Amino acid sequence: MPELAERFELSLPAGWQQQLPESTLTSDVDKMTFVLQLARWNIANKSGGPFAAAVFERETNRLIAVGVNRVVPQHCSLAHAEAMAIALAQQSLHTHDLSTASKHGFELFASGQPCVQCFGMTWWSGLTRLIVGARSEDIEQLTQFCEGPLPDGWQQLLANRTPLPPVEVQMDICREHAREVLISYAQSDGPNYSPGRS
Ligand SMILES: [Zn+2]
Repeated sequence: MPELAERFELSLPAGWQQQLPESTLTSDVDKMTFVLQLARWNIANKSGGPFAAAVFERETNRLIAVGVNRVVPQHCSLAHAEAMAIALAQQSLHTHDLSTASKHGFELFASGQPCVQCFGMTWWSGLTRLIVGARSEDIEQLTQFCEGPLPDGWQQLLANRTPLPPVEVQMDICREHAREVLISYAQSDGPNYSPGRS
């Protein structure tokens, strides 16, 4: 009988601290530009897929956590960039419910539209704002990654979330730049780790 695993651990790639901004980012465009640079670094570093994310405190713009895709290097289909950023934010703030950790709330910047898993994680995390770069159709068209069966009207579902507070969704921030990052991954011959593809 094979040995059964007892625990698992996910981590950012070595060198992630050197990718952090030197000053506070205040605009949506500046925050998304930072996230897209992080995704480019993950591609060049060959430390995972072409996606990155970051959690900021709203109003204060304090950076709480960053995430990059770690699925293949860490043998874990959970390790999407959004999941990494959400989980690391919860670890930093010592709570499973981000809606209770600050009166301002927290926002997630994602280089690509959340897949079906990350939609669920956004729902349960307590985040109150989601800002998206590339759309699902960009991801599926440019990289052939599969986004899964996201429910119709997913943005409205988040806007009506209860009993947790609603999630504001903002689409297409730096979408063209986000598409360019996906194109660069497709040209790099990086692996497609969608289930059934590898
Ligand atoms: Zn995902």
